[in-house]
Amino acid sequence: MALFAGSSPAFCLPPSSGADSGRELILSGQYEKARQYYSTQGASAPDAAGIADYLDLLIWTQKNLTATRRCGNTVLHAAQGVLDGREADALCLEADRLYRQIEEKFSIDYGKTISIYLYPEEMEAIVWKAYPYLSQYQLTDGKVHVFFGRAGQYGQIGHEMVHAMTQQMAAFSAGKTPDLLIEGLAEYLDESPWGVDLDAFVKRFGENGAYLPLSRLWNPVDFRRAPRLAAYVQAGSFVRFLVQEFGLEKFKRLYARPDLKAVYGKSLLELEEQWLLTVQKAGLDEGARRIVDYRMSLATHYASENGLLNMPWAGFAVTENENRVSIEQVFEASPASRLGLKPHDEILAIDGRAVRPGTAWVIGEAIFEKRPGDAVALAISRQGLLITKRLTLAAKPLATGLPQNAPEQPEGPGR
Ligand SMILES: [Zn+2]
Repeated sequence: MALFAGSSPAFCLPPSSGADSGRELILSGQYEKARQYYSTQGASAPDAAGIADYLDLLIWTQKNLTATRRCGNTVLHAAQGVLDGREADALCLEADRLYRQIEEKFSIDYGKTISIYLYPEEMEAIVWKAYPYLSQYQLTDGKVHVFFGRAGQYGQIGHEMVHAMTQQMAAFSAGKTPDLLIEGLAEYLDESPWGVDLDAFVKRFGENGAYLPLSRLWNPVDFRRAPRLAAYVQAGSFVRFLVQEFGLEKFKRLYARPDLKAVYGKSLLELEEQWLLTVQKAGLDEGARRIVDYRMSLATHYASENGLLNMPWAGFAVTENENRVSIEQVFEASPASRLGLKPHDEILAIDGRAVRPGTAWVIGEAIFEKRPGDAVALAISRQGLLITKRLTLAAKPLATGLPQNAPEQPEGPGR
């Protein structure tokens, strides 16, 4: 279900590990040598195994993501054959638009090129595992790593680009800027990725008990241990509040030297109280509540490798216009293809929930309440004929080791 699997919270928190000589090899791009280092002298480094996996991924990337395409200040890197078609055109233009938006929104002059590495979606589990290292070693170089082939990808690209492009804002903090501010700044770019405002998310967390006190999120270790969706969304809402209430210049000062009292003359608790008063003003109707809850159920899958590898999967992507929600693509060897679903089939209902333009997310909601092996009931209109089907969900196919070669089949356009 490509359309609804997207927009997962980006997992890009750097681990706090000390410097070593392997680090220099990595930073100078000598990945093969660094790989050797971590399998010999560096093997006793506390996170040697994780770094080795990460280096294997980078070596794979150098060999396989060899096609490039530039739009303005951004360059896409992907496997051969991937960078053509409507979706790639849109992605390239969107990346460059995001670049300019970030410069403007945060009033910075980044100036350098951003390289965006596009991985096939089935590598999701492997790339997530490497994310702590990717963000630690790659962002300083203006390199971001994302997936190609799902509609939620723009949010993820924007988020990672903010990290890369605003690193210089933290230049004087010597790595002391809390993740609450780093992730919050990145999330703040995506005002309302699911059509629900960040403040409305936080308000819902207050209702359903998911709310995390900022005193807990301010500590980087606790931030990383916290449920990710709540931590990231709250961070985004809080940073937006700081910027809108007190201005960008003060926030930049805080980012470079994270001392709330010095910058705002207030404690974290005082600021939290003031922020929550603003949050209470957010509109939150039943539809928004359901979207937040669905988003939380999705996030639990991304929170662990096991969850990721057991994501319920129907194997089709949908598109919508003013009148109808219909299937855009059916993936090979998927439950949807086995059941004979076809592009242009209009989806009327899933498990008794009406599917209409603007509420197509209920398809994802119904699927993510289930597990692989469970079934969903679909009502479909095909050329005016009403059909009902029971679709048994599978686990989403994800690689657990690096693919031997670049995928031969390019990801088709329109996913
Ligand atoms: Zn991030």
